Amino acid sequence: MACILILLGAPGAGKGTQAVRLAEAYRLTHVSTGDLFRLHLGQGSSFGLKAKEYMDAGALVPDEVVLDMLAERVGQPDCEKGYLLDGFPRTLAQAESLGSRLSPDDQVVVLALDVSEETLIRRASGRLLCRSCENIQHLDFKPPARGGICDSCGGELYRRPDDAPEVVRERIAVYRNQTAPLVEFYDQLDVLTRVDGERAPGEIFEGLRSVIAERGVDLG
Ligand SMILES: [Zn+2]
Repeated sequence: MACILILLGAPGAGKGTQAVRLAEAYRLTHVSTGDLFRLHLGQGSSFGLKAKEYMDAGALVPDEVVLDMLAERVGQPDCEKGYLLDGFPRTLAQAESLGSRLSPDDQVVVLALDVSEETLIRRASGRLLCRSCENIQHLDFKPPARGGICDSCGGELYRRPDDAPEVVRERIAVYRNQTAPLVEFYDQLDVLTRVDGERAPGEIFEGLRSVIAERGVDLG
């Protein structure tokens, strides 16, 4: 039996941060389909080559290819007791295919981070990236000591065009359209819990932990 944690949330809801924390706290393997793709493409593995064929043709990689790749990864010993899925499933069809491949005694726990559109826009529009290092600052949460200058390296801070409110709004709309049926699907299976994602990262994490405890997840 394995426990599969699935984190859902709009872009900017804080999934990445929470995924890292959860994986650490529960010593769960963090399986990101994005990372898997990059790995396979880089290695030129059979999955990588297959995916590349579709990508070169400008097509989406079919779910079955992604699921095969995923199955190979989660079949490894470090996923035996469970794993945390990141970036998958994104659509109802993917969730259904994933479900059909799990063993009946696998326990799925879906954590949906609830963050309002207003908050997502505020978070994105305050974000400042450094041109010279990896540092990310934020006008509200990590304001630069000197305006426009990176606290870490003194480099120039800038706003990503992708963080502009109209772009964020568009991303959220795409996410809502794709994911609403997914939320309903998992809700009906009674494996989904909504967690208030408007709080500070530490508080969100405590919220996720209590859901995992309530769900009686065995990660021993
Ligand atoms: Zn910097």
